[in-house]
Amino acid sequence: MPLPDGFAFKDLDSKVGELKRACSQDEGQRKKWMAVCQTAKTDLKTRLALFEIAYGTTIGKAFDDYDNDKRNTYFQELAKLLDDFPKDKLPKRWDIEEVAGAGLHSGEGEGGQVQMKYGENDVPGFTAKYTGNAPDPSQALNDVQAFEALVKHEIGHSLQDSVGYTSLVYSTDGGGWTDHGGLKEALKAHFAADLADFGNKIKTALAEAAVKDVPEDIIVKWLEEPEADAKALVEQIVSGGVVKPGTTASTVEGAIPADHDLIAIVKQAHAGCFKLGSSPIARGGRVLLLWASFGKWVTFDAAGYAARVSEYQYNSPSEWFAEFYTTANNKAETVRQAGARAYPGAHAWLDTHGLIYKT
Ligand SMILES: [Zn+2]
Repeated sequence: MPLPDGFAFKDLDSKVGELKRACSQDEGQRKKWMAVCQTAKTDLKTRLALFEIAYGTTIGKAFDDYDNDKRNTYFQELAKLLDDFPKDKLPKRWDIEEVAGAGLHSGEGEGGQVQMKYGENDVPGFTAKYTGNAPDPSQALNDVQAFEALVKHEIGHSLQDSVGYTSLVYSTDGGGWTDHGGLKEALKAHFAADLADFGNKIKTALAEAAVKDVPEDIIVKWLEEPEADAKALVEQIVSGGVVKPGTTASTVEGAIPADHDLIAIVKQAHAGCFKLGSSPIARGGRVLLLWASFGKWVTFDAAGYAARVSEYQYNSPSEWFAEFYTTANNKAETVRQAGARAYPGAHAWLDTHGLIYKT
């Protein structure tokens, strides 16, 4: 595409304000400058100025320490990826860091911002495969390009608050997530029988030594610590006056059912999405998970999990949305269709909210 008439890159500094005004008022102008940003052979400084003008955004973070040529190529590739996105759904700010090796996910990207890291190895080929999946051919993101997936995933995050994404992810169409807050609340809601049985088994095994039921708070406090061994629970039972004075720690330890399902359920929740496997332990169709970045205990629908578009989708409600958004707007039609088949209700929700750009 030829450059606009009368334009020279050396004039860009003096024309930025004028161009931004023109682009904000005229979609045709904006598209023209998007094309220039994608195709022009130019230096990084100019490319970033073009990017900000055409995509209506700002670039955060200093980048003096990075390889300017790679970064220039990166923004050129990024500009191409964003071609289909409507203006009002583009992020308002990009904070992008370069890291050694491959690119990776780097933030929640809330408030219309994208925060991400790109790997210097991604540039210039952008051929690395996405690693957030099993890999499993049944998953929509099984065979996608890492760079595209990362960019669209982060855009998904940047949009989620403004579109009210919780109305999707807290519905059965979007994973059926529930944010219980604390572990105790989550256990009481869906795993109450396991919790009660665990305490009863200890009391029964202690027989004569027990003076009262094991308080649920003691069990829950112990379960909250992923590294805690049985000794920590033993200490709490002894110091909590559950057993008669003089009862030895080894007696209490012998009463703890180490192979109880409750322990397996909570360990699974701590271990996170990449350890859930094909059929995670569930109760009443609910699976427990720790939303690690916020320290919240959540549950989701086991039935919906089977259709997951990637393993990483089940990291949290927020990642569920970002990963699904990544399928719905992937440049490959096969990926978009696989996402729509996996969660048709969620696809309809995105469509209703104007969040599907490729047709
Ligand atoms: Zn994410």
